[in-house]
Amino acid sequence: MIQTIRGFRDILPEDTPLWQAIESCASKLFENFGFKEIRIPIMEKTELFARSIGETTDIVEKEMYTFPDRKGDKLTLRPEATASVVRAFIQHSMGASDSVQKLYTIGPMFRRERPQKGRYRQFYQINAEVFGIASPYIDAQLILILNELFKRLGLSELEAHINSLGCKECRPNFQKELLTFLQDKKEQLCENCLRRMDKNPLRTLDCKVPDCREALKDAPSTLNHLCSGCQDHFETVKSVLTEQGVDFIVDKTLVRGLDYYSKTTFEILTTALGAQSAVAGGGRYDALIKELGGDETYGIGFAIGLDRLAEIVAQMINSNAQEDAKAQTSKAHFLELMHSNSPDIFIIPLGDKAIRLAYMWTSALNIAGIKTETDYSGRSLKSLMKRADKLNAQYVLIAGDKEIEDNALVLRNMGTKEQYFVTTDNPVEQVETLLNRV
Ligand SMILES: [Zn+2]
Ligand SMILES: [Zn+2]
Repeated sequence: MIQTIRGFRDILPEDTPLWQAIESCASKLFENFGFKEIRIPIMEKTELFARSIGETTDIVEKEMYTFPDRKGDKLTLRPEATASVVRAFIQHSMGASDSVQKLYTIGPMFRRERPQKGRYRQFYQINAEVFGIASPYIDAQLILILNELFKRLGLSELEAHINSLGCKECRPNFQKELLTFLQDKKEQLCENCLRRMDKNPLRTLDCKVPDCREALKDAPSTLNHLCSGCQDHFETVKSVLTEQGVDFIVDKTLVRGLDYYSKTTFEILTTALGAQSAVAGGGRYDALIKELGGDETYGIGFAIGLDRLAEIVAQMINSNAQEDAKAQTSKAHFLELMHSNSPDIFIIPLGDKAIRLAYMWTSALNIAGIKTETDYSGRSLKSLMKRADKLNAQYVLIAGDKEIEDNALVLRNMGTKEQYFVTTDNPVEQVETLLNRV
């Protein structure tokens, strides 16, 4: 049997309603805030990611799926979405019609990370990007949107972490001081950190090796080196969040694993799955658009990890733990969002003539917007009632030879056991009327 590639997975029909509900909750919220959807290819020229994410990042050095195509062009399965959205923004001169563009996209990303529980090499993200706004209000608003989305999805135990990485004015000073600090700690640093240190000292700050983390715990912070512009920007972000009631923690270790960030970076963390982990993260990238060949344009965005988010929401829905009223309301709200896959009606045809009619009625009801299922196997009433039960159908419509002859099909509510009679000449219309009435 051929199976999925290691680190890849199927998302099965029993799980997709949850994913669809999360996605539609996000897109509705984003659209309220003026975002429009963009769909981008899953493959790009390797150069796009190498230049934007940074040559010395883990992603580019170790994790990308890169290969030559049949003509020898170097291609890469996208490891993240921002680079592609920026490329599209530049390629289509999107800033020409309106200097402010707010875009979102949902889809799979690919990174060849070490497989571990809950981590996939094809993983899904919801991304949002804003171009053309310098103001710190948009930084705060993106964090507010994430906070609101997770609230709507019923997540609790959330923590927004924020930091500022400074700009091209103030970062060189910081890098110099960090480098001096790193020189003293050389003995304790891993090979990766030593190699990257001179080229890109900031990368050592997100090294996951425990010894490095320990050595870097007192590393200098960008926050002590911000220029007055970056300082004011960060203060406004913080005061706006406070005024809007969004809880946050200033986290000087938050540098994110990509080179293109400047000024505000943020992550939303949750302890819902045990150890604290990030469900979303992002930041400002004012230099990236020019770096990729566009005009100088402000940019900021975030990515939400859908795999983990779906796991958390599923756990919340299935939990039997004692819940407070608030948790119960959000759970009920979310269940409402998830549209059910169960049919409204299951038609039980008994006999060849009935099967043909059942097929006709099923098609007409489906077109009319009433979810209807039937069965062509010719099995017995008993076994088809079982199947209707398994599918969780709300009604069954029984069409045996006798019912057809008597011109009285039986429509039975599976919950209340109430029965109605439907004639064979225009059952679709009658069923519609009955369903709308009850
Ligand atoms: Zn600065
Ligand atoms: Zn290290």
